[in-house]
Amino acid sequence: MNLILLGPPGAGKGTQARRLSDKLKVPQISTGDLLRAARAEKTPLGQKAESYMVSGRLVPDDLVIAMIGERLKKEDCRAGYILDGFPRTLPQAEAFEKTSFKNSSKVGRVVNIQVERDEVVLRLSGRRQCGGCGENFHVSFHPPRKEGVCDRCGKGLIQRDDDREDVIRRRLDVYEKETQPLIAYYRGQGVLRDVRGTGSIEEIFGEVLRAVE
Ligand code: AMP
Repeated sequence: MNLILLGPPGAGKGTQARRLSDKLKVPQISTGDLLRAARAEKTPLGQKAESYMVSGRLVPDDLVIAMIGERLKKEDCRAGYILDGFPRTLPQAEAFEKTSFKNSSKVGRVVNIQVERDEVVLRLSGRRQCGGCGENFHVSFHPPRKEGVCDRCGKGLIQRDDDREDVIRRRLDVYEKETQPLIAYYRGQGVLRDVRGTGSIEEIFGEVLRAVE
């Protein structure tokens, strides 16, 4: 099954996508993680993406569409995948619908994780992310067992360069303008389910599972 997780930055898409991936045994594909890896490796794509990412703007559609097209061709996507952070604009959603890079035929379900703006700012300003597996923690709300170390894979935690308050607000503005229209787009197709993104990670996961079943 192909799943899309929608929601503002900080809604918990990555956290829930990783849990879904473990449970459903299909890969979690995060365009943010792919772009951060490209930046770390200093590939041409990573170098082009950098200035957009550090300032909280979207990387141009053509670059992201080409990147995800390559990823979805891989063997591990045959049985399905969970998209986290893609599509983020209507042209991306339309490209995803039209092109043959979608291995299995249709978007199965879109889960829209809902979180208020002020809550997002609180969450992202205290967020710490694992440099290895990408798991997210929060200095107050979800601290790791050992400070600075990922509970899941043991690698070090970092603060993302776009988790600064001014950049967070820019990312939220971009989300509202560019990505929110996708809610109506997928609702119109009858594939969207809303999930409240507040509560414990496990409670939200329960709701996400109900939404995809
Ligand atoms: P994320 O980890 O999903 O919050 O993404 C981090 C940053 O990567 C975003 O603020 C964008 O600059 C870029 N990015 C990730 N996914 C996309 C996408 N689908 N389209 C455009 N830019 C993206």
